[in-house]
Amino acid sequence: MDYWHLKNKDFFQSFKKEIEENYPTLIVYVQENIVHIKGTIRIKDDKDVCLGIFQIDVIVPHNFPEEIPELKETGNRIPVSADRHIEGDGSACLYFRDEAYLYWDEKSTITDYMKKFVENFLLWQIEYEATGGKNKAKAYLHGSDGAFQFYKKILQTDDTLVVYKFIEYMTMKKVKSHWKCFCGSGKEIRNCHFDLFNNYKKKIRLKDARKTFGEINKILQKISEQKRLKNLM
Ligand SMILES: [Zn+2]
Ligand SMILES: [Zn+2]
Repeated sequence: MDYWHLKNKDFFQSFKKEIEENYPTLIVYVQENIVHIKGTIRIKDDKDVCLGIFQIDVIVPHNFPEEIPELKETGNRIPVSADRHIEGDGSACLYFRDEAYLYWDEKSTITDYMKKFVENFLLWQIEYEATGGKNKAKAYLHGSDGAFQFYKKILQTDDTLVVYKFIEYMTMKKVKSHWKCFCGSGKEIRNCHFDLFNNYKKKIRLKDARKTFGEINKILQKISEQKRLKNLM
């Protein structure tokens, strides 16, 4: 496998320097060819007042910066639960899968990740503790519920069919501009939601959209099977 930190040593050096300068309580180390950023992180407000301290382990994927790093909370400070977006092994889900790459591109740096992903997530956890979970709605749900929540928001619609068609187009390698628009207007995409469509098509990864579309279809299949069973009874 081609590991990013071996392929481009200068890039790895500047990566290490960024962390050293901006996060002196974190260390960068390599274990079994995977780069980790581990240690203590302080979450501060704009007046530099410390709001909370967390133990973290950031796992940097072998093809960084193409792929986004992962975050684990290792201090058991955040309870494992879907509401808190922490899985059994401490893994955090920072964004709904399809959404994450809206905030990431190949020019993104590790500081971008730490600020936009890690610090925002931990700040949300601090707010959660302070408000007794009243900020829950600011995060996305999981699975197909999360998918509908996310896509309905970006399309500014409540129409499930529009969302379904949009995700279907997101799963396709190529969508021809003379195809009918996903919004159901009957117009060709190029004469309708062309800019909006292209903007998301560039950012949302094919494999994420395909996973989401598969999950949604599974749910729909289940619903139609249940209906059929009811009719038989
Ligand atoms: Zn989650
Ligand atoms: Zn349209």
